[in-house]
Amino acid sequence: MNSPNTVYLRLEGPLQSWGDTSKFVIRRTMDAPTKSGVLGMICCAMGLSRAEARARLADLNALAMGVRIDRPGTQWWDYHTVGAGIGMTTAAGGVKFGAQGTIITRRVYLADASFLVALQGDETIIKQVTDALRSPKWALYLGRKSCPPALPVFAQPRQDETWTNPMRVDGDLKAALAAVPWSLRYKDDAPDETSIALPCLIERRKTNDNDTAPIEAEVWYDESVCFDPPVHHPRLVMRDVVKVNVGQPIQQYTPAPPRPRADYTNAEYKKRRAARLDADHGLCVFCKSPATTVQHITYRHAGGDEKQDELRALCRLCHDAVTMIEYGLGMGLDRIDPCEPRWREDILQKRGEIIAFRSLETRRRHFEPEDVE
Ligand SMILES: [Zn+2]
Repeated sequence: MNSPNTVYLRLEGPLQSWGDTSKFVIRRTMDAPTKSGVLGMICCAMGLSRAEARARLADLNALAMGVRIDRPGTQWWDYHTVGAGIGMTTAAGGVKFGAQGTIITRRVYLADASFLVALQGDETIIKQVTDALRSPKWALYLGRKSCPPALPVFAQPRQDETWTNPMRVDGDLKAALAAVPWSLRYKDDAPDETSIALPCLIERRKTNDNDTAPIEAEVWYDESVCFDPPVHHPRLVMRDVVKVNVGQPIQQYTPAPPRPRADYTNAEYKKRRAARLDADHGLCVFCKSPATTVQHITYRHAGGDEKQDELRALCRLCHDAVTMIEYGLGMGLDRIDPCEPRWREDILQKRGEIIAFRSLETRRRHFEPEDVE
């Protein structure tokens, strides 16, 4: 039994809001992501309308959800007006005027919070969720559209230097939440301890008919059976604590050092670039197509001082793939070496995405002009 059973999400951003049942003038947030919020986000990733989502919610609700509170954040509220005589812009691009004039609400947010969510269950559904999160159809947001995530939501931990997609966790949700290290915030932070105890919320499933929930179980009304109109069933949640290792920052939050403004017209650089292409027989080091460009694996000597082994000949496609991965990781002076085996899967994946996107764009341009908005 090695079939994958777990997918991880990282929910982190300047603001997030996981609405409770308050629907009117004051819209509160729970202290952690709700299941309806997380499944709503997954339906967005799958590109399902509210009506289409209805058919998928039973499958998705069957996944058990655990949330680890890595940073609880602070509550913040917004004096929010809708209308104010200028109307409200709709998603379809129109303008809607409220019947009763300006609507005033107070909306509560969690500022600067970070959560690790684990979903566990059937292999096929876990795989579908993973695929959707890796390549979301619609923009993902943290509970409200005004809350973009600050990190990729798909947060499968790296294992053996490759992305495992999705993962096998032998153990329950708590074990899954304990398996991912807690990350320091800044690159230069020094950890006080090698492990940390973090609060978590574990969904409680009934194991048999005589199973009675313990007194400390919380009832969360966040199991969506329908988004339109919203219908929620109750779910039992247990608060617990997991002990996890302290790891390196998820991503470099401090800005990467600026790239030196390399002068690529520099005669010395041109010479070294040509020597590199020649040494690689004019072929991409990754896929062996004709090389049209060179990759700097470090910018430390860029602009004419490069050593030959700091350059790699690449074709345009592999170069674009590598560059996209570098931007996604917020890399600084030292960049990706496409010859290193640990990047292989990522580069292949990104190349596939670029090819799929380009062929879609080509089809749109040439064959479906009436579909372009
Ligand atoms: Zn190539």
